[in-house]
Amino acid sequence: MEDKIMPTVEELKALAIEEIDKRKEEIIGHAKHILNNPEVGFTEFKTSKYVSEIFSKLGIEHDANLALTGLKGNIDCGGGEGPNVSVIGELDSLRIFEHPIHDLTTGAAHACGHHCQIGSMIGSIIGLIVPEVKNNLSGSIIPIAVPAEEFIDVEQRMLLREEGKIEFMGGKQEFIKLGVFDDVDMAMMCHTSATNTTFGVGGTSNAHIVKYVEFTGQAAHAGGSPHMGINALNAAMIALTGINANRETFLDTDTVRVHGILTRGGQAVSSIPSQVTLEWRVRSGSNEAVVANSKKVDRCFQAGAMAVGAKVSVTNIPGYMPRLDNPQLQELFLQNAGHLTTKDDIDIIDNSHNGGGSTDMGDLSQIMPTLHPYVGGGDGVGHSETYLIHDYEKAVIQPAKAMACVVIDLLSNNAAKAKEIKEKHNYNMTASQYLNFQRSVAEVIEYAPEG
Ligand SMILES: [Zn+2]
Repeated sequence: MEDKIMPTVEELKALAIEEIDKRKEEIIGHAKHILNNPEVGFTEFKTSKYVSEIFSKLGIEHDANLALTGLKGNIDCGGGEGPNVSVIGELDSLRIFEHPIHDLTTGAAHACGHHCQIGSMIGSIIGLIVPEVKNNLSGSIIPIAVPAEEFIDVEQRMLLREEGKIEFMGGKQEFIKLGVFDDVDMAMMCHTSATNTTFGVGGTSNAHIVKYVEFTGQAAHAGGSPHMGINALNAAMIALTGINANRETFLDTDTVRVHGILTRGGQAVSSIPSQVTLEWRVRSGSNEAVVANSKKVDRCFQAGAMAVGAKVSVTNIPGYMPRLDNPQLQELFLQNAGHLTTKDDIDIIDNSHNGGGSTDMGDLSQIMPTLHPYVGGGDGVGHSETYLIHDYEKAVIQPAKAMACVVIDLLSNNAAKAKEIKEKHNYNMTASQYLNFQRSVAEVIEYAPEG
């Protein structure tokens, strides 16, 4: 029998990086294709089909149409039993008609750079499935394309919920409910940003609760008989004033954000507005704080209705949970990032720093070890018409390499590192505790005047 010399971890990484470099144009091309065909959450049918075709071409077995548009692949490595490590990309865009690259009909636009995530997820897989790399890893690599990270279009998603197509309005939330993550032991993804550095590791994010608010008043001639009307727009205005009056009660340390949009303000200027709807959002740094602050906001909506004699219905919708990256995964990522760029090109953010936003990667981080670094390459203001990716090397290729190297660290040497992380991880809750909490948030608060 001939002697087979096992390649070192560094050699495996070099092979993966070489393959990613060789196929750089193709990988960036995938990201740009998705940029030019943007779709909002739970409607990413073209994007999903596109990613499915890429998986097939790469020879990756996968399930499709999970939570309508999601995909889950499975790459059984050749080196025996071991944990299952997922690399995630998000399929969805935002909806911004003013964005230079938007869908003319829907206004869908990648103003958060999620197209790059699909690129970096596929790029990392391209590096990892090089036979000499894959066969020296244990366990499985699970590429996942997840729908609907952006928590938008609440009214449309409520219809999907009524039709029984989804229960939760975030893709990873719905994936947890469907059990898609049940056989996943740890997960990672990279998100673009407009920072100058290539990599940013650390930080946390806000929990949030989403509200669909309907005020019902009484229409009447706004000039001839306003006394016969009940002005639902005035009810909403008083509610918003009430919310503003509560702002001094929010703790700075809870990073509270309370904000929203008026989606229907009345029918005709000559008629007292009788149907007024809002989509509102309460964010805070912990699950406890978000529940407490959400109750204050519910009180304000009721107060607005009470003041003018209108009715109100507040549908509370479970939002996201704070993101808690696994410190060992962060450390592995930093080590690998350090080989891909210079030290001053890597931002280390304190894990207590709350960026104020929210992501359903937070939900996943409550039930398993996760990693969610940021990568540069973008400019402009995220979630606005100015946000564009100018450097695809930073936004797609570098994270593809870094994630491939982290997976190699995790699954080489009989997956010793992945096993250790799984063993030592401080699990905040189980998937069923997660679902119980989220379902407890989903309540409808109503107020109607007597008589
Ligand atoms: Zn995003």
